[in-house]
Order: sequence, then C-alpha cells, then structure tokens
Amino acid sequence: MPATAPNLPRRFARALARTLLGLLWLALLALGALWAWRQPFMERARTLWELSRMPPPATLPVPVQSVAPRQVADTFGAPRGADRRHEGVDIFAPRGTPVTSTTRGVVVAINDRGLGGRQVWVLGPAGERHYYAHLDDWAPGLAEGDVVEAGAALGTVGNSGNARGTPPHLHYGVYGSDGALDPLPRMRAVR
Ligand SMILES: [Zn+2]
Repeated sequence: MPATAPNLPRRFARALARTLLGLLWLALLALGALWAWRQPFMERARTLWELSRMPPPATLPVPVQSVAPRQVADTFGAPRGADRRHEGVDIFAPRGTPVTSTTRGVVVAINDRGLGGRQVWVLGPAGERHYYAHLDDWAPGLAEGDVVEAGAALGTVGNSGNARGTPPHLHYGVYGSDGALDPLPRMRAVR
C-alpha cells in the first residue's frame, strides 16, 4: 500500500488526460463534419437528404410562365400510338416562354435525346422525378447536380424531340416509385 499509493493520483491524472484528449478529438471530428456539411460542395448531398424526408407536394404550380391550370388539357393516360400512353401533360405556350421548376430539387439529368428531345430531369421532394421535355433551350448555365428552388428557370418552351413540327409546348411529367403520376390534379389544387 505505501508503495503504490503515491502513484494513484498520477495514474488518475494520466487517465483523465487521455479521456480529455479523446473528447477533444471527437469534438474536432464533429466540427469538421459540421463544417463539411455546410460547404457548397455538400449542398447537393444535404438537399437530397432533405428532399427524401419531405412529403410529396400537395400542389404544383404550372411550370410554364403565364399559363393557368385551367388552360392545361387533361391528356394524362391518353393513347399515344399503339403501345404508349401519355405519361404527363402538354402545356402550350409561345416558343421561348420560360419553363420553371415546380419544386425544390436537384437537377439529375440534362439530355437531348429520344422522344423528349431537349429535356431536364429534377429530383424533387419524396423521391418524385419531374420531367421537362421538348425544350427549345436550357437555362443558361444550368448543370447536372445543380440545386434548384421552385420557380427556378430550367429552359424555354420549344418542340424538340418527337414534338418537332407541332406547336411549341412543354411536356411535363412526374414519376413516383410506381411510375407516372398525373400532375394536373395537383396543378389545379393551387388556389
Ligand atoms: Zn406530352
């Protein structure tokens, strides 16, 4: 006992120092993670996480400037050729009319191909994917990975893809986990 007793305070002090050092490391790691999470390069990841936790929007604005919901015809599900159905709505407007995002989201694809021609895909709340097609052009500087707010410019109305030769219009589609959803009821729910 007399031989070991004087060592106890020193051992305790060393253990305390190790514990404090460990806590300091943890605090630094947490601060680093917090810092990274708030950096612009993490904005996409943070937004995707937030979007995945949001409910699907109850209403959707018309994504073409100056077009009212009642001006949009109910053509969702209409036959298109022998084996296709219309998986969205067509919103007619003069060529060059701004097309805007209906929701907050992340631009996941910008393509010029297939039926849709010049198109933008935005991943919005609750995993719903919003499809904007037949664009005349894309909004300047728009890039895949961009975080967009509702109302952000995506492009302009045109008739690219299989709409070539028809009056300019935006084809707007919404896809959930089970496939195409009719966006018109939610557009008409806007008061
Ligand atoms: Zn269409």
